[in-house]
Amino acid sequence: MLKKLAKYLRALGYDTIFDENLSDQDLQDISVKENRMLLTRDGALENDTPDSHVIYVKPIEPEDQLAFLASKLPLTFEEQVFMTRCLECNSALQTLQRSELTKRVPTRVYRRHDTFYRCPTCKQIFWHGDHVKRLHAKLTRLLEAA
Ligand SMILES: [Zn+2]
Repeated sequence: MLKKLAKYLRALGYDTIFDENLSDQDLQDISVKENRMLLTRDGALENDTPDSHVIYVKPIEPEDQLAFLASKLPLTFEEQVFMTRCLECNSALQTLQRSELTKRVPTRVYRRHDTFYRCPTCKQIFWHGDHVKRLHAKLTRLLEAA
């Protein structure tokens, strides 16, 4: 239920682990050991985790979840960190020039962009296309309103 929120946070540059295979115990251990905030919609898990390491995310819609989180945490959004993490797997993206691309992208995209971003883990390629621009505008709006 928090998958889209995790993507939003990654788009904003936040190191965000999202793994449905982790147990409650794993989640608690990671949050304490790595000094991370555990975001959950599971009331029992929230009750069982030290307050300083957990936030119960009340809203259901991802946009509302981000706004809610921004009211609880000092989320900042700097343009230069936007799209520095893979939205799918959280790895830090590598910047590539067009000539360094080793994977095909649509011709229109190839012609229009000079800079691309590659995930070293899942090999996805990203670029500042319309979809990313829309995401940027949306997240900016949400954080400004929060
Ligand atoms: Zn990735």
